[in-house]
Amino acid sequence: MRAPEYHQLRLGLPSKLGGITSNQSELSRPSLRRSQSNGMLFDLFEITRPTPRKKIARGRGLKFDNELTERCRMMAGMVGLGELADKVKVFWNLRLSSTAGLAHHSNAQIDLNPRLKRFAPEEPQRTLLHELAHLIAHDRASGRRIKPHGQEWQNACSELGIPGEKRCHDLPLANRVIKRKLAYQCRCCGTIVPRVRKLSRDSACYPCCQKYNRGAYSRRFLLEKISIKEAKLLAPEHNWV
Ligand SMILES: [Zn+2]
Ligand SMILES: [Zn+2]
Repeated sequence: MRAPEYHQLRLGLPSKLGGITSNQSELSRPSLRRSQSNGMLFDLFEITRPTPRKKIARGRGLKFDNELTERCRMMAGMVGLGELADKVKVFWNLRLSSTAGLAHHSNAQIDLNPRLKRFAPEEPQRTLLHELAHLIAHDRASGRRIKPHGQEWQNACSELGIPGEKRCHDLPLANRVIKRKLAYQCRCCGTIVPRVRKLSRDSACYPCCQKYNRGAYSRRFLLEKISIKEAKLLAPEHNWV
């Protein structure tokens, strides 16, 4: 199985679900789509038919940061990764909302959330090192599949001067309450999946695919659209419009 194309540092997870959610989203397939912001939980409920590798939309809303790029180059050189040092690039990504940073393995690109600057002054630097550690660990693994926050990443963090770095930063980035306009239901387990955006017709229930199909995609567990009225009755706990 190939390693996910990028790694995402998630923030603001409810503590009770945080462990499960981040585990799932980090170890499972990259095609797992994410709902926005405070809807982390619902990452668990969507699995999409594997498509030929999807390109992450890049280029729009990206601002290149020369200084941070130079810093990464220097550090990658210091840990003996000349090739990585040559290609690493750092951008501020205006489209990130609840994500602090991203490390794209394929082109050694690091995206940072501009809102990080509003927090403690050391936050961009810390996130930068966190993401660079992902690139370093991935580079050294040369294609071998490693855990996103496993030993290799932890070693890289120590070398970069952030030993004991956590997998998630507790920053209140996800502070917008997002109203859900769409509702889907798994006909198998009955779970209601609130959504801001439309799901693809191929989206299936993640827990059911896990439970009955060894985690592989199956159309038996397709999510079906239901009315908001019905959804409000069945699952009043969500933020419906
Ligand atoms: Zn990470
Ligand atoms: Zn289900």
